[in-house]
Amino acid sequence: MTSLLLTNADILVTMDAQRREIPGGAVYVEDNRIVAVGPAAEVPQRADTVLDMRGHAVMPGLVNTHHHMYQTLTRAVPAAQDAELFGWLKALYPIWARLTPEMVRVSTQTAMAELILSGCTTSSDHLYIYPNGCRLDDSIEGAEEIGMRFHAARGAMSVGESAGGLPPDSVVEDEAAILDDTRRVIERWHDPERFAMRRIVVAPCSPFSVSRGLMRDAADLARHYGVSLHTHLAENDDDVRYSLEKFGMTPAEYAADLGWTGPDVWHAHCVKLDDAGIALFGRTGTGVAHCPCSNMRLASGIAPVRQMRCKGVPVGLGVDGSASNDGSHMLGEARQALLLARVGSGPAALNAREALEIATLGGAKVLNRDDIGALAPGMAADIVAFDLRGLGMAGALHDPVAALTFCAPQTVAWSVINGKIVVREGRLTTLDTGALARCHNALAAALVRGEA
Ligand SMILES: [Zn+2]
Repeated sequence: MTSLLLTNADILVTMDAQRREIPGGAVYVEDNRIVAVGPAAEVPQRADTVLDMRGHAVMPGLVNTHHHMYQTLTRAVPAAQDAELFGWLKALYPIWARLTPEMVRVSTQTAMAELILSGCTTSSDHLYIYPNGCRLDDSIEGAEEIGMRFHAARGAMSVGESAGGLPPDSVVEDEAAILDDTRRVIERWHDPERFAMRRIVVAPCSPFSVSRGLMRDAADLARHYGVSLHTHLAENDDDVRYSLEKFGMTPAEYAADLGWTGPDVWHAHCVKLDDAGIALFGRTGTGVAHCPCSNMRLASGIAPVRQMRCKGVPVGLGVDGSASNDGSHMLGEARQALLLARVGSGPAALNAREALEIATLGGAKVLNRDDIGALAPGMAADIVAFDLRGLGMAGALHDPVAALTFCAPQTVAWSVINGKIVVREGRLTTLDTGALARCHNALAAALVRGEA
């Protein structure tokens, strides 16, 4: 057994049942599990490793519930900078069709490095395009090396242009092959146990890129194995119009009709979820990945987060694919959630502590986990620390917890994932980020130029 003690934090944000914030707080960890949390004098004083957290805010690691990490290769592509969702997709599909296994692995690590440095310790990734021999395994292997807790979603597209779908035929897969490969990755990688570092999610891309049959079969398959379901839903007005024209139902009605509701399901965006849909999701415990940066970037609208929370809908945050956000900064996303909610519904729409709660406990709930998102005995040891002594926080220490979202988004000084120190004094310990960025840039240039 190895032990780790983070002690003397200026403020320790627990997100526990009482939402305690403890000045001079400490967390004591054995292996990958939190054993004690409290004022420094009340937890064990000795450990194999002791980190003095004076000058830091310590909190649970943030949870990212929606991403397409391969898209870090196509950030800020000129042809897709100024489009709405469908136009943006049309511009990028032909580029993504050239993706290789190496690109999937490297881009996963780039996105994860950026996420980890921004305070995130658990992330989902929705990989839905598998050209040129790419596999979900490529992203999982990338995650293993960097040491991030990972929910890998086996996405899919099966309805190409010739069948009335949005993606070109060259990037869609056969439905039987999709289900076979989904079964394969669940059996190879899924860990249902508490503190799992690796879970698999069944995730057809969206109602406008797969058939009704695949959505139903995917739900059956996920429930057979006890894994979660994830897709995009009600992202913007075009998306709702497509659903009404093609299926004669609103997106929420379509989800319900397919069996895509329940605590084992979460949908990305839901910007245009109507009142009946919000009530349905609240009743069934269906989760939402709120992606404020992406929604602003693509001018999709403002998701009704306040109404969702009032009706009991589990809401987490997602940075979304890097091509429609262009950044993977989790604390920054919490800040945008706060700001965007206020643009929509006034300053009472969301406060700073709620934004942090959505980014931690909210994300854990959406991923259907009760072992992450809070610092309490028996929880997984996913802990981050932000240094409060820099310029960005200067003058904000009247309330350092609120300052984490009100001030410019900081990067972490320390990150512990599953009991292991993954960021030490601001530097990632598991990978060389400079070399990673150089490799990633070379692959991105080749991909966009078409030389892959
Ligand atoms: Zn997405």
